[in-house]
Amino acid sequence: MIRLRFAPSPTGNLHIGTIRTALFNWIYAKHVGGKLILRIEDTDLARSKPEYEDNINEGLAWLRLTTDESPEHPGEFGPYRQSERMAEGIYDRYALSLIKEKRAYYCFCSNETLEAEREQAEKEGKAYVYSGTCKRLSEDDINRQLANQTPHTIRFSMPGHTLTFPDLIRGDISFDLSLISDFILVKSDKSPSYNFCCAVDDMLMRISHVIRGEDHISNTPRQIVLFDAFGYPAPQYAHLPMILGPDRSKLSKRHAATAVTDYRDMGFLSDAMFNYLSILGWTPPDKEILETEEVVSAFSLEKVSKSGAIFDVQKLKWMNGQYIRKLSPDQLYATVLPVLTTENVQKLSHFNISEMTRLFFSVKDNLETLTDINTLVSVYALSSKEYETSLATYTFSDSDKEVVSLFISLFSALETPTSDQIDTIFATILDQTKLGKGKVLKPVRLACTATGSGPHLSDYLSIMAKSEIENRLAIWQKNNLNNV
Ligand code: GLU
Repeated sequence: MIRLRFAPSPTGNLHIGTIRTALFNWIYAKHVGGKLILRIEDTDLARSKPEYEDNINEGLAWLRLTTDESPEHPGEFGPYRQSERMAEGIYDRYALSLIKEKRAYYCFCSNETLEAEREQAEKEGKAYVYSGTCKRLSEDDINRQLANQTPHTIRFSMPGHTLTFPDLIRGDISFDLSLISDFILVKSDKSPSYNFCCAVDDMLMRISHVIRGEDHISNTPRQIVLFDAFGYPAPQYAHLPMILGPDRSKLSKRHAATAVTDYRDMGFLSDAMFNYLSILGWTPPDKEILETEEVVSAFSLEKVSKSGAIFDVQKLKWMNGQYIRKLSPDQLYATVLPVLTTENVQKLSHFNISEMTRLFFSVKDNLETLTDINTLVSVYALSSKEYETSLATYTFSDSDKEVVSLFISLFSALETPTSDQIDTIFATILDQTKLGKGKVLKPVRLACTATGSGPHLSDYLSIMAKSEIENRLAIWQKNNLNNV
C-alpha cells in the first residue's frame, strides 16, 4: 500500500510552496491509488496556533485536496497532531529505546561549551561537527548528572559511513555522515526535534513515500539513519524544486502574496489555481490547461524538474482568465455575485437576476480575476451626471453625428431591444452610410456610454434599460446637435 503524508507546521498561513507540496502528494496518491495522510507538525508549541491549522484546512478544502486520514478524520495510526503524540509519550519511548541500544546518548554539554567548540571550528575553517564528548561518559557519570538534574539533550550517535539514497526526482544523493554532528533528538526543554518526530511518525504511520521540498534534503540522511536504528525500511524520498520569485530568489512576500487563501480572496478560481500549481515544477506532456483528472493521469515524478520553478502571477492571472471563460452564464453569475462590492450591488440593484447574469457574461472576456468584476461593471452603473461629465471630454465629427442620429431614430423604434435587433440596426447603418465598422460602432459607443471601450455593444445596449439609454442619447443630442 502506497501511503503519503502532508506534514505542515501550523506556524503561519498556508504558504504557496507548502500547498504545492500538498498538491503533488495528492496528485501522486491519486495517480497510484495510494492514501494521503495529513499530519500536523505542531511540536513548536510557542509558534503553533489553532488559527493556522484552520488556515491549512481552508487552503486544502479550497483546492479540494482531500486526505484519507487527518486530525479531523483519524484512521488507525493516530493521533495525527504531533503535540498529541508528544503528550502520549511516543517520542520519549523511542528516545529511551535508542539510548538503551546505545544508538543515542545523553549530552550534558552547556551552551557555552558548544559555542566554544563551534568558534574553534570556525577559526580552523572547518565545518562544525559536535566533538562527541558526552558519548564517552561513563555510566556512573551519566547517572550522577541525571540525578543532579543537569540540563541535557539526547543526541543520536551518527555512524561514520557514506549514505546514498535514491531520490525519485534527483537520482542518487550521497552524504558523508562523518561530516554530520550527532544531532539532537530531544532538546533540553524535553521537546523532541523535528527530524526525530518526523522519522518516528513516518515509521509508525507506515509512510512509503515522502514528497517534500528540496529544503529538506539535508534532513533526509538524519531521518534515514533513524529508520536504520529502528530496524525499519526507510520510505522512498522525492524532493521537489523550490518555488522562486521572478528574480530567482525564494518566493517571499516581496514578490507576491504567499498565503494560498489570499489567492482565493483575490478572486482566483480553485480549478485555475490547482492547474497552475500543478505545472509549477512539473512539465505536462502536451498542453498546460488541464482538468484535474488529466493532471492525475499524466503526472509522473520523473517529469518533475530539478531546478527551481518561478511563480509568475501574470501567468496565473492569464490561466485564471481561461478558466473564467469556460464558465456558463449561470456558473459565472453564481461565482461572481459573492465578490461584488456592496456599493456595486446597490448601483446595479435595478437589474433582475437574468439581466445580471447577462451583464456579468458580457464582461467575462476581460476578467482575469473575479474581483476585476467590480471595475468592469462600472459601465453599467454610470449615473447621468458621470455620463455627462465624461461625455464632455469627447468630440464628435459630422460623420459621427450622422451615425448617432441614425442610430437614435432606429433604436427608439424598438420596443424592448434585443441584441440581435441592435446588430440589425448596425448592419442598416453600415449599409446606408457605407462607412467602416469602427466609424459606426465607436461614435455610438461613446454616445451611449461615454467610454471608449467596454462589453460587446449590442449586448450592452440590450441589457441596459431602454429609457436609460434614451436619457443619455437626449443629453448627447442636447450637447452635440444644438446647431442642427
Ligand atoms: N513540518 C515540516 C515542514 O512544514 C515537514 C517537513 C516534511 O515534510 O518532512 O516543513
